[in-house]
Amino acid sequence: MENCLFCKIVKKEIKADLVYEDDIVTAFRDLNPQAPVHVLVVPKKHIATLNDLEENDKALAGHMLFAAKKIAQKEGIAEGGYRTVFNVNRDAGQAVFHIHLHVLGGRVFSWPPG
Ligand code: 5GP
Ligand code: ZN
Repeated sequence: MENCLFCKIVKKEIKADLVYEDDIVTAFRDLNPQAPVHVLVVPKKHIATLNDLEENDKALAGHMLFAAKKIAQKEGIAEGGYRTVFNVNRDAGQAVFHIHLHVLGGRVFSWPPG
C-alpha cells in the first residue's frame, strides 16, 4: 500500500526502533509509548483492520501472537505480565489502518480498559 505508514516502516522507508523481525512480521517500539514496554507487531502484508483478515491469513495471525510471546520474553515482561491489544475501527480508536498487535508491559494495567 503506497500511503500506509506501517508499510513504509516495514520497507524501512521510515525509521523505527525495531525489536524483532522475520519474514512475516516486523516489530518496533511505539512512538508514543503507553507503558515502559510498548511494542507494535506488524505483518509485512498490508491488511487494513482485523475485519479484513481472511481465511488464508490465519497462520499470519498466529505468527503475530507467537512473535508477541517471544518479544515479551526478550523484553523481560513475560513473567510479570503484559497486555496485547488489537484496536479495530472507530470505537476502539484505531488510528493506523494496517493491523498491529500492541504489546504493553512494565506496569500494572486496569480492567476493564478505558
Ligand atoms: P492504533 O490506535 O491504530 O491501535 O495505534 C497506532 C499506534 O501507532 C499508536 O500507539 C501510535 O503511537 C503509533 N504510531 C503512530 N505513528 C507512528 C510512527 O510513525 N512510528 C511508531 N513507531 N509508532 C507510531
Ligand atoms: Zn500497510
